[in-house]
Amino acid sequence: MQYFSTNRNSPAVSFREATLNGQPPDRGLYFPDSLPKHDRNFLESVSKETVAFRVMKPFVGDAIDDETLTRICAETVDFDFPLRQITDQIYALELFHGPTLAFKDVGARFMSRCLGHFSQEETRKTVVVVATSGDTGGAVAAGFHNVEGVEVVILYPKGRVSRVQELQLTTLGGNIKTLEVEGSFDDCQDLAKQALTDDELREKVFLTSANSINVARWLPQQIYYWFAMQQWQETVEPVFCVPSGNFGNICAGLVARESGMSAGHFIAACNANDAVVKYMESGEYETQESVATLSNAMDVGAPSNFVRMLEIFGSEYPKIKENVDAYRVTDAETSETMKRVFAETGYVLDPHGAVAFDAMERHIKMHPESKGIILETAHPIKFDSVSQIIGKETEVPASVAELFSKTKHSTVIPVDLGAVKETILKNI
Ligand SMILES: *Cc1c(COP(=O)(O)O)cnc(C)c1O
Repeated sequence: MQYFSTNRNSPAVSFREATLNGQPPDRGLYFPDSLPKHDRNFLESVSKETVAFRVMKPFVGDAIDDETLTRICAETVDFDFPLRQITDQIYALELFHGPTLAFKDVGARFMSRCLGHFSQEETRKTVVVVATSGDTGGAVAAGFHNVEGVEVVILYPKGRVSRVQELQLTTLGGNIKTLEVEGSFDDCQDLAKQALTDDELREKVFLTSANSINVARWLPQQIYYWFAMQQWQETVEPVFCVPSGNFGNICAGLVARESGMSAGHFIAACNANDAVVKYMESGEYETQESVATLSNAMDVGAPSNFVRMLEIFGSEYPKIKENVDAYRVTDAETSETMKRVFAETGYVLDPHGAVAFDAMERHIKMHPESKGIILETAHPIKFDSVSQIIGKETEVPASVAELFSKTKHSTVIPVDLGAVKETILKNI
């Protein structure tokens, strides 16, 4: 399988090159030139590791030998992905049982191991630059911590991530350097993009990105959609509702569906950052300044994977509308949903899951026969708001309790490429 650029001005490349480049030179996004077709039976009585291998093998091709890929897949899915029923019609696929308690662990683990494997042949130092709105950084940091020959530079918006997220970002040390940017997530993302294409840096180090634009992070997110299908016992096809920010997660699900996963409709659940919701309403796409919300990992004004969604549907607006709905959920609605669901069912949603739950309920109102799966993308403990809103302390997992005893290490910088370059060059 080859990967072409969505801007169509860069050569097609293998999985290896797509992973190492991160982004094509023309600043589009890599996209697979064909999608595998799976028979749904390929799920029957096989282990998680085998599902992961079968899903990823066609995308990786010959870039990684089967033995290594088997190991990478096994390590990637080395925790639970339970599907829990919350109401008659709504289930939650819990994606927060990994090391940093969020779904991004899956992509980050897969990618870090691929990059570790590929960098064995690289003489320059590999530097991973990643902008995070909260969860990416922690997952990437954990994935890469102590991987030999790889330095990681993380940029996050000062004051806009939760306490647990910040500790996960700033307490590892070693090959993980953390920059606290005096700006928004979009500023961080812009800085990361500029650094990644900076000629001076590219001469000295091998630069790559670990954001969801990287195919090695993006594509493994398909795996847990198949895990959900393995656990799905209802007779109707499930509607998947995905709390969306950069739209990588939902696009991975849509790719899985194109590959034969028999899911029904997809719902993009958004907070006040509603560029895609507006697109669905009007057919016009305009990026925005991001605004801060309770579901802060989705505070993205210019979703980078939007072009992949277009690509999946051949840029045909009617086709997109037919397959995907998008809902906008306010912070007030998010809190109300968290409170109500906790009172009625005892289930503690995190703010991102709550956005999805609210969107799913609205969908069910209009389609009363449907049943669906929300992606619970993070553990509620990661968000300081949760216990205040539901009026009860969230249970603290052991991994989090340990974090509170650690010391934060980060450097505060203005929105300035020079400061990012200095950090990278100082560490090689
Ligand atoms: C990153 C993140 C999202 C958004 O995922 P995208 O792939 O960027 O759309 C949703 N929820 C949580 C908890 C996240 O960390």
